[in-house]
Amino acid sequence: MTAEVLQKAAAGDRLSAEEIELLYHLPLPQVAAVAHELRLQRSDPQVVSFLIDRNINYSNICRVGCNFCAFYRTRRQSDSYTLDYDQISAKIRELEAVGGTRILMQGGVNPDLPLEYYTGLLRHIKANHPSIRIDAFSPEEVLFFEQSFGLNLDELLDTLIEAGLDGLPGAGGEILVDEVRAKAAPARIRSQDWFRILDAAQRKGLYTISTMVIGFGETYRQRADHLVSIRDQQDKALREYGGNGFSGFAMWTLQTEHTRLHGKAPGATAHEYLQQLAIARLALDNQPNIQASWPAQGFKVAQSALYYGASDMGSTMLEENVVSAAGGHDRHSATVRELVRIIDDAGFTPAIRNSRFQIIAYPDVAQVLGRHADNNEAQRSVGGGLVAQPQAVSASD
Ligand code: SF4
Repeated sequence: MTAEVLQKAAAGDRLSAEEIELLYHLPLPQVAAVAHELRLQRSDPQVVSFLIDRNINYSNICRVGCNFCAFYRTRRQSDSYTLDYDQISAKIRELEAVGGTRILMQGGVNPDLPLEYYTGLLRHIKANHPSIRIDAFSPEEVLFFEQSFGLNLDELLDTLIEAGLDGLPGAGGEILVDEVRAKAAPARIRSQDWFRILDAAQRKGLYTISTMVIGFGETYRQRADHLVSIRDQQDKALREYGGNGFSGFAMWTLQTEHTRLHGKAPGATAHEYLQQLAIARLALDNQPNIQASWPAQGFKVAQSALYYGASDMGSTMLEENVVSAAGGHDRHSATVRELVRIIDDAGFTPAIRNSRFQIIAYPDVAQVLGRHADNNEAQRSVGGGLVAQPQAVSASD
């Protein structure tokens, strides 16, 4: 039965939650081989994409207090902060200087900020940085806005969109099974609200992605249920919202350093991460764009992930504060050169994309890596090979 499930997935057939659960009991190389084959079929087999962007955390003050979070502060702690518009503009100018195209802007759930802070901030960014896309506010923040600002969800999203919001990142997905969420963070947004908010965002044409974090001690069945829930929402969005579903899927492992879960939640090893990534590729038959995670896994495991179902290397971030606060690999950003190197070295063509996973440029690999054009190493083809580059750019780092 277990081997038949793998054959079914390889044929492109949809797996039930029960069948997905069986995959965890198969040798990883077998699952990975099917995952890589499906990845080659469902996204450009030669290309691995990434985004030049910046994370901006406008405030670390948060009233939710998740047990797994080392980022948040109470307003009374000396290192709590809220950025003003000029400080945020300065960060965006740094992004513009390296050719970046979007900011991923999230905060804690700060009870002191009025709606006008957010709408004014969106307008300020659009006025001063018109080429930058703004993907901002986790479902947790949106839920708080709903509860605090006297607007229903439609009115709230319309207000934010009118002010300049382009997308709503799907942060806070973790495991969308409330039994797991209640243990990890009792005050955390529940799965029903997470889907309700992302569904409304998709209906209104906003960018969204789906996410997953493993390592809370969740069961394989709960992981499978999480994947099926995301797949169901994707089906609905593709069917009812003109194809505006989740643009991609990002998955990483729980980091617990400096958190209340340290020593209590098991986390996940590299093997588990790669296994989960491969199974996600098999389960999410309606999601072509699956990301590798270098902030949680480091560059080396993230590079390996390109043979376990991943087709995308995420983004440069320039400044990552949330995963790194709880451990990660002590890296808050990646340079274009680093991402180009690990993608090229794995045998794929690096491509710079926008947040909707549309390719906007192919970096000149030899130039970015400082290689001579006749250097054979630059022409090496392991898994994907190099293709003609229709729009070569020299991406600085
Ligand atoms: S994960 Fe987000 S909501 Fe939870 S405590 Fe941290 S900042 Fe607040």
